[in-house]
Amino acid sequence: MVYQVASTLAVNGDRLSAMIRQLAQLGKLPNGGVQRLAFSPEDCHARALVRRWMVEAGMTVTIDEAGNMIGRYAGRFPDAPPLVTGSHIDTVPNAGHYDGTYGVLAGIEAVNTLSAQGRHLDHPIEVIVFADEERTMVGCKAIAGKLLPDPKLYRSRDGEPIQTCLERVGGDWDIIQHARRTPESMAAFVELHVEQGPVLDMMEKQIGVVTGIVGQRRYWITVEGQSSHAGTTPMQMRQDALVAAAQVVLAINQVGHQPGDQVATVGRMDLHPNVPNSIPGRVEMSLDLRDLSSNRLDDLLAEIQQAINTIAANTGTRISMAQRLDNDPAPANSHIQNAIAQVCEDLNLSHCHLPSRASHDAQEISRVTDMGMIFVPSANGISHSELEYTSPEDCANGANVLLHTLMRLDQHYRSPKAITAMTRS
Ligand SMILES: [Zn+2]
Repeated sequence: MVYQVASTLAVNGDRLSAMIRQLAQLGKLPNGGVQRLAFSPEDCHARALVRRWMVEAGMTVTIDEAGNMIGRYAGRFPDAPPLVTGSHIDTVPNAGHYDGTYGVLAGIEAVNTLSAQGRHLDHPIEVIVFADEERTMVGCKAIAGKLLPDPKLYRSRDGEPIQTCLERVGGDWDIIQHARRTPESMAAFVELHVEQGPVLDMMEKQIGVVTGIVGQRRYWITVEGQSSHAGTTPMQMRQDALVAAAQVVLAINQVGHQPGDQVATVGRMDLHPNVPNSIPGRVEMSLDLRDLSSNRLDDLLAEIQQAINTIAANTGTRISMAQRLDNDPAPANSHIQNAIAQVCEDLNLSHCHLPSRASHDAQEISRVTDMGMIFVPSANGISHSELEYTSPEDCANGANVLLHTLMRLDQHYRSPKAITAMTRS
C-alpha cells in the first residue's frame, strides 16, 4: 500500500505549546529559564506530569530498569515491534524550555492527534523519556547495551550514587542490563529535537533532515617545557610550554578550517605554574574533534599529530596526546531521511539536510535499530541557555513532520521486519 498524506491529520499546535509552557513551570528559574537536573525533585515532578499526559493520550506507561519512562500506544498488530520516538526532559543548569522536552511532548501530541480520531497505526508507537540525557546518558546507553559496569561513572552532579538516583524514578541498577533492547524489539527510532545550532535559522529552513550524529574524539594534550625565571632566562634559552601550546591551538584551528564538515576545538587550558614572573613549564589542554566519518576523524587526527611533532621539535618541548573520549559517528538511516524529506514536500515545509554536532539519545539507539532525526530551528542558534527559543509554528511543524514520518514508516516497516509478527497476530 502506498502511503497517502491525510491532509486533514494535523497536530494541535496550541495544545503542544501549552504543554511546553506548563512543563517549563517545573524547575522554573527567576530569569525565565528552567533547571531540571536528572533525578532532582523537579525532574521527578516533570516525569509525573508527562506520565499523566501520556495516559491522557491513550498510552500505557512503564518504567524500565534504567529509569526510562516508556509510553506505549497500541497498534493494530499488537505483536509488531513499535515505532519509537522520544527524547529527554532533564536539563542542563540554566536551560531553556525546548532541549529534549520538545521532542517528548511532540511525540505525545502526535499520539494525541491519532487517538483523538480513534486511529491506530499497524505498529504500536512508543514515546520514551530517556533518563539523564544531559550528563551520563544512562537511559539510552542501557537500552543500547553500552553501559560500563562501574556505577561510579554514573553518579549525579552532586555525587549521589546512581543506585539511589534510579531507585527514585523506578529503575534498578542491579538489574539494569534488563533494560537492553534487541533490534527485533523496535521497528525504528525517530527523535525530534531543536537544532541547538544556527544553520536552519540562518538558511530560513523550517525542517532539518539529520544525516547523522557526528563522531566525537576528545584528547588531553600535555606540553612540557622548562619553567624558569621570567627575568633572568634569555629568550633563546627558553623552552616555553605556552608558546608551543599557542602554536598547537593555531594548528588545530587550521585543521578545523579545512574544507569539510569537521569542527576542531581547544576549549580548556591549564597552565603551570601560572604566575606572571615564571616561564610556563607545562600546559595541559583539551582537543575536541567531530565529524560524521570515522576515517575522516583518523585523517584529521594524523594531521594534528604531525603538526604537533613539528611544533615540539621547533620549540624544544615534549608534547603528548591521551585519548579521553571516542564516540563513533551515528549515521541516520537513509530510508528514514528520505521519508522525512518526502513528508516535508507533502506538507509544503522547506527543509535541508544537515549533521547533528551535538549528542542525542538517538546516537545510542542507532546502535540497536534504524535511526532518524528531525530538527526544527533554534532562534539565533542558541541552546543550553535560558534564551533558547523555537516559535510555536516551528514546534507545530516539527510535530506534524514527526507524525507523518511515523505514518510513512508504519507502511515501510511492514516488510520484512514486522511482517512475521503481523501475520502471527
Ligand atoms: Zn537534548
